[in-house]
This record gives sequence, C-alpha cells and structure tokens, in this order.
Amino acid sequence: MEPYMPISYLNDFIFCPRSIYFHQLYGRVSQRLYHTTAQTKGKAAHKTVDTQTYTTAKSVLQGMEVYSDRYKIGGKIDTYDASKSLLVERKKKIKVVYDGYIYQLFAQYHCLVEMGYEVQKMKLYSMDDNKSYPIKTPPEDTERQKEFDDIVHKMKNFDLNEAFVANENKCRYCIYNNLCDVAAC
Ligand code: SF4
Repeated sequence: MEPYMPISYLNDFIFCPRSIYFHQLYGRVSQRLYHTTAQTKGKAAHKTVDTQTYTTAKSVLQGMEVYSDRYKIGGKIDTYDASKSLLVERKKKIKVVYDGYIYQLFAQYHCLVEMGYEVQKMKLYSMDDNKSYPIKTPPEDTERQKEFDDIVHKMKNFDLNEAFVANENKCRYCIYNNLCDVAAC
C-alpha cells in the first residue's frame, strides 16, 4: 500500500499545520508521555471501539481500518451501521462542533464509499452528555466538500520550512509549545 496520511492529522492540521510535525515525531513514543489529560480521556472513550467491544450487532462495523486511494488518507472509523447506512464518530464530550471533527467524518465517508459501503447519514456523538450532532454528507454539503479538498491539498503540500506566523492564542494551548521553535509564547 502507498504511504497515506492518517485521518487524525486533519484535526491537528486545522489547529496548526506545524503541529503535524510534532505529532509525527512523538507518535512513535508512548502516547502517555505527551497527551494532556483531556486527550487521554478522549482516547479512553475510544478504547471500546478500538478493541471492538462497543456492540456485537452484526450490522455494526467498529474500529475498522479504512483507506481512500483518491485522497491517500486512511485510519479507523468509529462505528458504521450498515443497516442504517450511518457513520458515527464518538467524542468524550463535544462542547463545540469543530471543523476538524467534521472533516474527519468527511475523510471517513470518502474512505468507506471508495471501499464500497453506502453512507447516507453521519453524526457526531458526545458521550458524556448523550448528545448527537447530525452532519451533512459530502454530497449534501458541496461547499464544505470544496473546503475539505483544499485542506487535504494543503496538508499534502505543507512545507515546515516555509514562513509561518504563529498564533499566540493557539500556541498557549498547544501541547508542543515547549518543542516548537516558532511558538509565540
Ligand atoms: S506551538 Fe504554536 S506554532 Fe508551534 S505547533 Fe503549537 S500552535 Fe503551532
């Protein structure tokens, strides 16, 4: 299989393109070394899916590896219910529906469709407060689809050496700010 970009990078890239470099660097080290508490809790929320213990329903695929040749991206879906053509991405608690969450679903959608699955509905699910956020599919939201194409293109062509102006508000909350040579604080 050709090299591909993990779907999870989309969220990082939207937060700050440079964070992908550090994500790659530290992705090879134990994640406990650098995850913040919130991120660790978020990962724990995904554990049941990653170990495929969330549901035993035959129509529900959990934690399945997916890949898009068109976009050269891949990763794991959270759950896909074939009986409802429904793709779901769970988060521990959703306070804001960030663009990155939506683009992760878009990426999963394209992977699944390319692999021959039908996806008619998508939603984000906030586990702590049991709230669902329906998300339009790419064919239903062509504007966002164009943005998605643009972000994937930028991600693939990002050059760490190009001029970059850091955003102090982001750097303050960035888990890599002790390592980053252009951090604004
Ligand atoms: S410290 Fe700032 S510039 Fe560096 S990766 Fe984090 S957000 Fe980006």
